Amino acid sequence: MFFNANFRKPRNRAKKGDCIGGNPKVGTLNGVLYMDLAGSSLCNRETVPFLYTDSAMSCLFCKIVEGTIPSTAVFEDDLCYAFADLHPQAPVHVLVVPRQHIDSLAGAHLDDRPLLGHLLWAAAEIARTKGLTKGYRVVVNTGEDGGQTVDHLHLHLLGGRPHSWPPG
Ligand code: AMP
Ligand code: ZN
Repeated sequence: MFFNANFRKPRNRAKKGDCIGGNPKVGTLNGVLYMDLAGSSLCNRETVPFLYTDSAMSCLFCKIVEGTIPSTAVFEDDLCYAFADLHPQAPVHVLVVPRQHIDSLAGAHLDDRPLLGHLLWAAAEIARTKGLTKGYRVVVNTGEDGGQTVDHLHLHLLGGRPHSWPPG
């Protein structure tokens, strides 16, 4: 089943006249897999309604969001999914990820601003639920220097112990 939470509106819409195959319902264009949800050829369509990028198809956190890789759910809504980190660095260590695939904070676009705010709100909501009244830390490792190891935007919510500064 192709319809899942990782479809997202394309950032670069295919233009009318772009052709990704003979009479495709599915095809790739510039490394992006396009799905023609209307069931007709993309060749003469003004725009493509949704896409599912190659990176999303092979992404660990996309698979966790889909449920094909197991996780311990902590919170979820229509925009995000939060689950326990496999290698917790604090008594509370939760990852908050958008359901849609975004590589990293560096890949966020202007129209992602509401989603970014929602992820922060979700982290705070989880912290409230977990009773982290003494405080907590929210971390977004970004890129190589930032120590990001999974290329799907995620917030670390760390709590239940004091955190030093500066971080390592
Ligand atoms: P980062 O290094 O900021 O990209 O964070 C990636 C986080 O994902 C690390 O804290 C890992 O422990 C965590 N992680 C990796 N695989 C899994 C998994 N299957 N389930 C839960 N957390 C995971
Ligand atoms: Zn992903």
